[in-house]
Amino acid sequence: MKLLVLLLLLFSIFSQEIPNRWDELTASDWPKALEKSNKTIILPVGILEKHGPHAPMGSDLIRVRQLARMVAEQEYAVIFPDYFYGQVNEARHIQGTFSLPTSLTLELLQATCDEIARNGFEKIFIINGHGGNPELLKYFVQTQMDKKRDYAVFFHTSSHDTAVWEQIGKMRKSDPAFDQHGGETETSVLLYMRPDLVQLDRATTESGENLNRLAKMPNVYTGIWWYGSYPLHYAGEAEVATKELGKLITEDNVRSIVEALRAVKQDTTTLQLQKEYFDEVERMSPGDRK
Ligand SMILES: [Zn+2]
Repeated sequence: MKLLVLLLLLFSIFSQEIPNRWDELTASDWPKALEKSNKTIILPVGILEKHGPHAPMGSDLIRVRQLARMVAEQEYAVIFPDYFYGQVNEARHIQGTFSLPTSLTLELLQATCDEIARNGFEKIFIINGHGGNPELLKYFVQTQMDKKRDYAVFFHTSSHDTAVWEQIGKMRKSDPAFDQHGGETETSVLLYMRPDLVQLDRATTESGENLNRLAKMPNVYTGIWWYGSYPLHYAGEAEVATKELGKLITEDNVRSIVEALRAVKQDTTTLQLQKEYFDEVERMSPGDRK
């Protein structure tokens, strides 16, 4: 009888729902969270910057945080709290932009990952909410090969469901080529997630038109291009945004992230190959970059 009670107690403890946000977990639930997540944490990276005249500064942070929450409801992982230290050098001429120096941005991200790993995680899965971040984040992930670490960093690269995006294509009212920042799709997602923060009636008080001021230089990339095109840091037509479009986009995003997260949680090859690689580096150059 005593054994049965003990088993029931253990079962109820094990099957108990535990929070997924790091800041909402108790110390007593930490080991369970590590086990349930397969030592996997989602690091949602957002930004603070103007999003047209109508949407909040934290649009990208709000979106990526909400996506992480929806994903973790389907596939458990711990979620790192609000992180908005990304690349946004192109919007420093506008109030509300929080842009740290580039070297500090990289250093902070590395220190954050080191500290996450020190708390027991082996897999850090970065999801991104801001259009100016992917180059930085991919570069950061590649720099993880600069020295031996006992954790791996993964970056979600989105994939679209063709059928869903055909439907999205039919629903869109503005030109996708210019719907880049604070425009129809981004605003639609916010209308779906946090309609209380969108002032849609202000969407037309500024123009989100591409001004194309930079001289044409074929096959050339240069940093000022964005300011050349969108000096108001608004690109698109938010006034045509709808919550229905936002729901479809969000659901497809969640699907793509869940798929990636499941693969990351199950993966055993990355850490094994990392170890093998650094053992070879160590053999080749003993004492290098400890
Ligand atoms: Zn944005």
